[in-house]
Amino acid sequence: MREAHLAPYAAKTALSKGRRHKEPNPSTRTAFERDRDRIIHCGAFRRLEYKTQVFVNHESDLFRTRLTHSLEVAQIGRSVSDNLRLNSPLIEAISLAHDLGHTPFGHAGQDELNLCMQDFGGFEHNIQSLRVVEFLEKRYGHFDGLNLTFETREGILKHCALEKALKLGELGLRFIEQTSPSLEAQIVNVCDEIAYSNHDIDDGLRSGLITVEQLLELDLFARFWRETQKEIPDVPQRRCIYETIRRMIGALVLDLSNTTYQNILNYNPKDIHAVRQLPVMVAFSEQMDQEAKMLKEFLFKNLYRHYQVNRMSSKAKLIIRRLFEVFMSDVSLLPPDYTVDNPTQKQKARFVADYIAGMTDRYAMREYRRLFEVEGV
Ligand code: MG
Repeated sequence: MREAHLAPYAAKTALSKGRRHKEPNPSTRTAFERDRDRIIHCGAFRRLEYKTQVFVNHESDLFRTRLTHSLEVAQIGRSVSDNLRLNSPLIEAISLAHDLGHTPFGHAGQDELNLCMQDFGGFEHNIQSLRVVEFLEKRYGHFDGLNLTFETREGILKHCALEKALKLGELGLRFIEQTSPSLEAQIVNVCDEIAYSNHDIDDGLRSGLITVEQLLELDLFARFWRETQKEIPDVPQRRCIYETIRRMIGALVLDLSNTTYQNILNYNPKDIHAVRQLPVMVAFSEQMDQEAKMLKEFLFKNLYRHYQVNRMSSKAKLIIRRLFEVFMSDVSLLPPDYTVDNPTQKQKARFVADYIAGMTDRYAMREYRRLFEVEGV
């Protein structure tokens, strides 16, 4: 009954492809609510609080972390989901888990770990998020991982290279057959971008690395900035920034909901199985798509490649590489959970990657000091 209000094309417990290890359905929650709750209770979720995307965790208490980012994705996703009568608990589960596999120090950390892992199958944060929920979390008596439903895991695996997909069984099939995931997974994909583009504007302005004058080059920002100033002429700048961002998020959510609804009407899928056989339906209108792209390009050029961010990224890469090298040269430095007797080079590298990827920013810096500084703690 808890899913009776959902649209026919929504993901539903009754049509779920289930869990890897059979478990009775919960009596007071849906299967997707249980997934969401398991994610909230896992250790990797708590560590998101001390991992960052752009700014390093210790730089300020006000910047977004991967935890607040994931909560914002879930909130924005829920708004779109409710507009379309989709399964909001599934959206929450995917949103809260989508970044679990990220390394410390954002993209710089992921890029460097991927380089370190080149001869051992590479490192990709999407696949690592899946590895966290399928294997690395060890808190249930009967199985490794969180034993989440297929639909939540399908949503976590946003993209995947073909050769990797071949090893993932049913989960990898859609990348081989080029079919689509659930609408809920499609929504989290886009809401991830809505969340980070908007919060990075906020954090970028707060840090002083970008300015309002620069942002006024963007139509999307300029439109709502001017609208706010016209409506509330004496509004202080900080509040004008918040007002502009909240209006931008509102406009993106509305456009996404309306365009997607139109696509759903056109394709008329009768259930989730039909959704999987159709092209991706969750999309912005053409104009909004252009504006969202320009926003991303702006941030890439002016914030993510700002020399002050580059300096931290360069330091982050050095930390990741030296940690990787020292653990590879002597696995006895790893905690016992991360080793087995006589591992192959490939197994060894994967253990090291798991250990490093699980670190928070500050833990990685502390490990670096412990291992390389004479007076390290
Ligand atoms: Mg994200």
